[in-house]
Amino acid sequence: MLTRRDVLRSAAAGAAALAVPPLARAGQKKEFTLPKLPYAYEALEPVVDAETMTIHHTKHHQAYVDNLNKALAADAPDALGKDLVELVRDYKKLPEKVQTAVRNNGGGHLNHTWFWQMMTKPGGAGPKGDLAKAIDASFGTVDGFKKEFLAAATGQFGSGWAWLVVGKDKPLAVAKTANQDNPVMDGQTPLLGVDVWEHAYYLKYRNLRAKYVEAWYGVVNWDFVADLFAKAGKK
Ligand code: MN
Repeated sequence: MLTRRDVLRSAAAGAAALAVPPLARAGQKKEFTLPKLPYAYEALEPVVDAETMTIHHTKHHQAYVDNLNKALAADAPDALGKDLVELVRDYKKLPEKVQTAVRNNGGGHLNHTWFWQMMTKPGGAGPKGDLAKAIDASFGTVDGFKKEFLAAATGQFGSGWAWLVVGKDKPLAVAKTANQDNPVMDGQTPLLGVDVWEHAYYLKYRNLRAKYVEAWYGVVNWDFVADLFAKAGKK
């Protein structure tokens, strides 16, 4: 039979249980979050319109983040909050059930996190310093690089990305990936990437991908690319 004291003790335990987060909550892993843009949605006008930027960031990128968190929480909770580059690079080490979700949504989160930083308002200077030298050594001239990069972007069949990566035999190389794959999945180091999914340009450029990538080249943030190149050299 319960005494008054038992009842009080039990009530106190109940209150304590409410006040203290359950163990699962206390051990909860950090979720991935949508990064803020380093500029306003209209900052890249007229090259990339504000409506495209807004939908691209708040809907498409947000969906990659949400779907990545959901998949990891369900099937690989220990991977929540891991370094994003390592998570994407090593997605094949994860439980098989979650690999496709991480490849697509982790890749999407990583690609877009870099993509926003790889752009800046139109009218900036082109590559300079060590980066310009490496481009000359690899592609002959900066124009030679531009031609090869834009051809890769235009020629990627279906959705995907074109990249400038650290090269194997030359300092730099151009690469393409399908869907949301990232060059890190092939052990490569990306320095610049252009999103050629239709969601990146269709509102303004309709089906004219070549016109979009030619214009897009004018918003490349070469300082950011140079930083990545300098960091890649220090590895
Ligand atoms: Mn995109």
